Amino acid sequence: MRLSHRTATLRLAQPFTISRETATEVEVVWVALELNGATGYGEAAPQAHYGESVESARAFLDDAKALLGDDPFALEEICARMAERPGEQAAKAAVDNALHDLCGKLAGLPTWRMLGLPRTGPPTSWTVWLGEPDDMARRAAAVDPRFRRLKLKLGGRDGLDVERVRAVREVTALPLMVDVNEYWELEEALENVQALAGLGVEYVEQPLPAGDPGGARLKAEAALPIYVDEDCHTLADVAACAERAHGINIKLAKSGGIREAVKMAFSARSLGLGVMLGCMLESGLGIAGAAQVAPLCDHVDLDGNLLLAEDPWPGVEFREDGVQTPSDEPGLGARAEALSDPR
Ligand SMILES: [Mg+2]
Repeated sequence: MRLSHRTATLRLAQPFTISRETATEVEVVWVALELNGATGYGEAAPQAHYGESVESARAFLDDAKALLGDDPFALEEICARMAERPGEQAAKAAVDNALHDLCGKLAGLPTWRMLGLPRTGPPTSWTVWLGEPDDMARRAAAVDPRFRRLKLKLGGRDGLDVERVRAVREVTALPLMVDVNEYWELEEALENVQALAGLGVEYVEQPLPAGDPGGARLKAEAALPIYVDEDCHTLADVAACAERAHGINIKLAKSGGIREAVKMAFSARSLGLGVMLGCMLESGLGIAGAAQVAPLCDHVDLDGNLLLAEDPWPGVEFREDGVQTPSDEPGLGARAEALSDPR
């Protein structure tokens, strides 16, 4: 197999703010894997928060060429060889996605079919990024009517997080969930979660910093289910998450791809945990990878490509029922229509 990669810049439709940063554009890496005239594609969305960058991802991809071999269906072995190298989960996910895309194209089947899954899962949420309470309410009120649920970014560290949710609750009857991105302390979390329970919030994502020693107490005493994201990267993290959360947020850029994500979903089930599927700021290529495993999940948050000014990889359809629907074309089904040479 021949692997090539390039950097691309995705421009956001509007600046996207969470507790720790604001983004107006994001750099990703596109991977192409060629074999016998077929090409599989994957996208890496490296996360600075996890010590990754476009440069480190591309350095990993240069090394990964020696780990691939010539059988794209040998996914377990290829992923095991990549797992021996530390970190670079986003780059690993890009290779895993490109392998799934290539295998699907060689077999003439969509990836979801090859995984034995139905085509569609739950509807995606729309993310209302962090802002002043009245600003968040204004944006929530103007949301595309196809969205069936909203995810509110909290963690303003200004004592207004409950007020943010109250303001949004006043303008919409949609189910709400909140994501604090590690910005509450334990006492604050216990108090805020209690208040949010009265506002019809369904669950709270990552209220405490990853690894916070108060996690078990919060799970025991919280008035709402707690989901963890920054606490849960790969299969090896899932069992420990059962001590501090009621559910996990799986993202391909953390897990290292589709194959590990499937293992995590089943592991979570065996521990009685809920399963959420999330994404980074990604194009339709990255979202197409995640959408393949959405049917394994209870909650889906795959709006990354919908936040872009322009999606260079059409192939996931955002349907009337709010579901991010993968193509029925072979592989991941994303098409680089706007690119003269996606490699
Ligand atoms: Mg999150």
